[in-house]
Amino acid sequence: AKRAGGSSYAFFEAHMNAGVREQIALQRELRLALERGELALHYQPKVSAGRQRMTGVEALVRWQHPTRGLLGPAVFIPVAERFGLISAVGHWVIEQACRQIASWQRQDLHLRVAVNLSVHQLRQEDFVRRVAATIAREGIDAAQLTFEITESVAMEDAEGTLKAFEALSDIGVQLSIDDFGTGYSSLSYLRQLQVGELKIDRSFVQDLESSADARAIVEAVIRLAHALGLQVVAEGVETAAQQDVLTRLQCDDLQGYLFAKPMPAEHVAAWAEDTRRR
Ligand code: C2E
Ligand code: CA
Ligand code: CA
Ligand code: CA
Repeated sequence: AKRAGGSSYAFFEAHMNAGVREQIALQRELRLALERGELALHYQPKVSAGRQRMTGVEALVRWQHPTRGLLGPAVFIPVAERFGLISAVGHWVIEQACRQIASWQRQDLHLRVAVNLSVHQLRQEDFVRRVAATIAREGIDAAQLTFEITESVAMEDAEGTLKAFEALSDIGVQLSIDDFGTGYSSLSYLRQLQVGELKIDRSFVQDLESSADARAIVEAVIRLAHALGLQVVAEGVETAAQQDVLTRLQCDDLQGYLFAKPMPAEHVAAWAEDTRRR
């Protein structure tokens, strides 16, 4: 028994070291990636439930790694958060998104772009000032930029979130609660937050066809949001059946592989044109 315990400990230690070593290597490469321009934003359309017109896009960060290929945010955002790089990465994402809004504007494509925020960004002293400066520099309308913050982050630090949201709302950007339904926000807290939108978490959308409970929850969330004057977006819509239920329940916007996967910026205009013609 003793021997078995010893070897499983050795295994645990070796395993952990490998994980930590890998993260350390990755964070070193991530610093360089920023300088070398290896990060890119892909954009996933949101469409109106009724007519399936594009109402905006969500920016999702990617890393074109020189040897590992295209990496998703789940691989490197946690590393950026852990090693103090999230501020730099997050700021690059906001700058890139604002630049893209301006560029689409010049092509007469007036698109709202949603950007995901990490909790560390909201806590930064000069975050709101930097956002305002970026918006001014790119000459865009602040209302074209939306920040998505997950419900769990908004709950974790309610006081701080409330303050940050107030300041962001004051400069005119839109705010959205992501992964809604997975946390425990209270009604009164939701009312205080200056958000314009709730995004129903994919887990509920996935269960819509099989679970009456999921349907009841989604219906209640949509009613609640509308009663508070908020828009509702469902994420992760993959089937026509899910689309049907969500449309019947009066969900405003839909997003998911059924309509489009995240795509490079240069494909977005053509996609918008296609959906206009449908
Ligand atoms: P999220 O904000 O909940 O984004 C939705 C994720 O679901 C995206 O994964 C998207 O590609 C994926 N998705 C969209 N439609 C479907 C669908 O129909 N089915 C399925 N199975 N998946 C779908 P992605 O791009 O890998 O992003 C994962 C998470 O990484 C995001 O979750 C977000 O929390 C985070 N993230 C992405 N970009 C950024 C960023 O710039 N900054 C920060 N802090 N986090 C980011
Ligand atoms: Ca999101
Ligand atoms: Ca989400
Ligand atoms: Ca989600």
